Amino acid sequence: MRLASEYGRYGYRRITALLRREGWHVNHIRPCRRPVIVGSEWVSFSALLTLRRAGIKPVAMIEEADRITAPRPADTIARLAFGVPVLTRTRLLGILGREVVEAVEIERDGRREHLACDAVVMTGGFVPEAALPRASYLELDEGSGGPIIDQHWRCSDPVYFAAGNLLRSVETSGVVGREGEAAGRAMAAALAGRLIAPARRVPIKASSPLRYVTPQVVAAPGDRPNGLLFRTCVDRLARGILWLLRNGEEIWHRKISALPERHIRLPGGLVSLDDIESVEVRLDPS
Ligand SMILES: Cc1cc2nc3c(=O)[nH]c(=O)nc-3n(C[C@H](O)[C@H](O)[C@H](O)COP(=O)(O)OP(=O)(O)OC[C@H]3O[C@@H](n4cnc5c(N)ncnc54)[C@H](O)[C@@H]3O)c2cc1C
Repeated sequence: MRLASEYGRYGYRRITALLRREGWHVNHIRPCRRPVIVGSEWVSFSALLTLRRAGIKPVAMIEEADRITAPRPADTIARLAFGVPVLTRTRLLGILGREVVEAVEIERDGRREHLACDAVVMTGGFVPEAALPRASYLELDEGSGGPIIDQHWRCSDPVYFAAGNLLRSVETSGVVGREGEAAGRAMAAALAGRLIAPARRVPIKASSPLRYVTPQVVAAPGDRPNGLLFRTCVDRLARGILWLLRNGEEIWHRKISALPERHIRLPGGLVSLDDIESVEVRLDPS
């Protein structure tokens, strides 16, 4: 990057020679002329535009699900305006090549095939940055892939707090920034003795097509869950009525149409903690 910025008018071969002179082990092959983009999130289409600006036309964009994760018509634009096929129901099985990437092995509608390419741009299938809690004794939520937390950002051992992309696959930087601030305030309150240790932890139940809900438990005594944290997410495109139940009784519902990876806010302020026995978030498909 430094050399390319310094010697902007130099071609790839001259930059390769300069890199070798500086001791880098690089070959003469020009990389990433025909990449495959894995994923179909907003960021996948952003990668497509970045590549296009660099004069690179991807071979294809591949997505395991029946439809793209980003809203339509991003796929039609990619196909018609940029000439990049968007292959849905297509799973990446492997990356092939010895010295350089030569192809990807994919499974499409049950058939295995190879797609020739020279680079793979991973833009989907995000997982939480949760290696540390996974290696610990803290309780985990298999749905979100992150640690189980209460409405005060406390893990199953309440001396630990968690926020940000540790909690689930991916959220925008503005939201995780606010989460960090809120978790920091909760930690300060705990250190000052203003946050009471939980006497009870009531699980918030969520079932398919909901992938998870955060927080996964409400701690009593404590505050009602706030809108920043009280969210759910579907595991596939889903439409229907989203219900919030407290002690088995409906306290809120809303008609929704939701895509995977999009967080749906829930009205945590409605969840009173007095005599709380159960909380459930349910989506009845229509
Ligand atoms: C490809 C991609 C594109 C994105 N584009 C956008 C965008 O355009 N706009 C936007 O708003 N958001 C975007 N995001 C989302 C945004 O990057 C994240 O929401 C944000 O960075 C998450 O912040 P965080 O602090 O929770 O986690 P991170 O930024 O992931 O920070 C966690 C840090 O903890 C460190 N860490 C992890 N484990 C350990 C350990 N055991 N010991 C020490 N350190 C550790 C990691 O190295 C990392 O530095 C994008 C995300 C991705 C993956």
